[in-house]
Amino acid sequence: MTRVLIVEDERSLLRALAMNLTARGYEVTEADTATKALAAAATAEHDVVLLDLGLPDLSGLEVIRAVRGYATMPIIVLSARTGSSDKVAALDLGADDYVTKPFSIDELLARLRAATRRASAAEPPRVVQVGRVSVDLDAKIARRDDGQRVHLTPTEWHLLEALVRHPGKLVTGRTLLTELRGTPDHTDPSYLRIYMGQLRRKLEPEPSRPQHLITEPGMGYRFQP
Ligand code: CA
Repeated sequence: MTRVLIVEDERSLLRALAMNLTARGYEVTEADTATKALAAAATAEHDVVLLDLGLPDLSGLEVIRAVRGYATMPIIVLSARTGSSDKVAALDLGADDYVTKPFSIDELLARLRAATRRASAAEPPRVVQVGRVSVDLDAKIARRDDGQRVHLTPTEWHLLEALVRHPGKLVTGRTLLTELRGTPDHTDPSYLRIYMGQLRRKLEPEPSRPQHLITEPGMGYRFQP
């Protein structure tokens, strides 16, 4: 049974989420403040956390910072439809994904399943399918299904690996730039866009309508298997 800690100060939403998830077989713990959330996270094991960022006592960002000090379970942010800076900050602090309110229960369940699946996969696969291209991350060989090799530059390999290592996960631009350049600073914002464009041209069946290397505007990128 998957144990979910729901942290949300809006009582009606908290109740609705708890009822929906319980009905689907999840074991639910509810918290309507950051203080209760931190107490619950410290005293019992949870497989995943659903976390509102706007809490009455502490910011949800503080909850992420504290929980990440000792635990690695997935954290999915329940975010209001304001700018992207809070969401990016949450992801950079170690949140795994976010859904924007109002969200459908189906959307939330899909993200929940993806997050728990990622967390329980012992080792990410080393051969990944990107559309019709099979990508061997160890041998550094990409091959189309007709057997033809696809040549990627070292930077393209690096960027691709950073994305496909976490299937379905949103990776922020800041994280990718740190991965590629050792620092997120002093970098032309078009840098990632250019390399993602190249990867799409080489790997996506229809580069102008990407299905696997997805841009999350203002946030980062996601590999959709
Ligand atoms: Ca709130």
